[in-house]
Amino acid sequence: TSMTTAEEAALRVLDKIENGICDPQKRRELFASVIKTDIPSGEKIHLKRISDDRDIFLYGIFGYPCMHSKSPGIYNRLFADYGMPAHYTWFEHPDPGAFLQSLPNTGVRGLSVTIPHKEAILPYLDEIKHDAESIGAVNTVLIQEEEKFGFNTDWKGIYRPLEGTEGDTAVILGAGGAAAAAVYAVSMRGFTPVILNRNRDRAGHLARKTGAETGVLEDIGKFHPDLVINATPVGMGSDPNTPIPPSVLHPGMKVFDLVYTPRDTPLLQAALAAGCSVIPGTEMFIHQLAEQFRILTGIETPVFRLREMLA
Ligand code: NAP
Repeated sequence: TSMTTAEEAALRVLDKIENGICDPQKRRELFASVIKTDIPSGEKIHLKRISDDRDIFLYGIFGYPCMHSKSPGIYNRLFADYGMPAHYTWFEHPDPGAFLQSLPNTGVRGLSVTIPHKEAILPYLDEIKHDAESIGAVNTVLIQEEEKFGFNTDWKGIYRPLEGTEGDTAVILGAGGAAAAAVYAVSMRGFTPVILNRNRDRAGHLARKTGAETGVLEDIGKFHPDLVINATPVGMGSDPNTPIPPSVLHPGMKVFDLVYTPRDTPLLQAALAAGCSVIPGTEMFIHQLAEQFRILTGIETPVFRLREMLA
């Protein structure tokens, strides 16, 4: 009731109870328009079961592509654990503006935003939180009374696992969205960031916003980092490569690989062999998700529970 009178708030609650939160026809149209790829069979059954229920809050991952995302499985297990009348699904669509325009009266209450929309979605939001604005990317959208609020929880996913990590220089490999979150996170932890990227201009562009030193990946030998964060996709899937040569790794260094499939990336294996301490990308995934779940639902879920689910 902070923005209204108690009576007005009570009337709105009554209206939701009597009329539901969304228009089922509009929701069906939304699903028909955005889902272009086959949905795994279990999901289809679930959607069919809830499609006429007006009072289920909907959430989803919005990207293009995003059908490979495991987030729906995790979110739906959390909703079940907490007994929430909510469902999380995939929204695969190429156009953030058109997609957001289709949302009113559908019951969609929040989104996880993924590639390639994290930056492109900004102009379509009503309010962007200060940290997301500084990073220049939004990965979480909360929708309340048709207003869309943008947050960035990626940086928290890097910041939190670095608790207790000390040092002066942090080298960030890459200059995309994850690197921008990493630069913000290490700065908040008191490190001086250095951005090394394949494309020097892109590193320069990111540095202009942050004042960080820049270079190409091959420059790693010039710096003596206490912390190295890989924010490139090198080492993902079956890629056997490391973004920097293993010879530059030495004991006392901490290596955080943001790539999380596989969990033990070639870089982390090389770092362990060189006597470094390591943080796997699954930790970023878990911590950014815990923060996102808190923003979208108000519930603080223990990270060990998410770690168990991911395992
Ligand atoms: P992005 O915006 O596309 O940026 C990718 C960066 O990687 C660019 O700087 C690019 O350099 C560089 N790069 C791409 N291929 C390369 C290669 N073969 N060799 C050297 N550099 C290369 O992607 P992003 O959103 O920042 O994500 C980057 C990675 O972070 C993802 O692949 C993912 O594995 C990881 N990530 C993890 C989480 C998590 O929860 N753990 C969350 C988000 C992202 P150029 O500028 O030269 O093209």
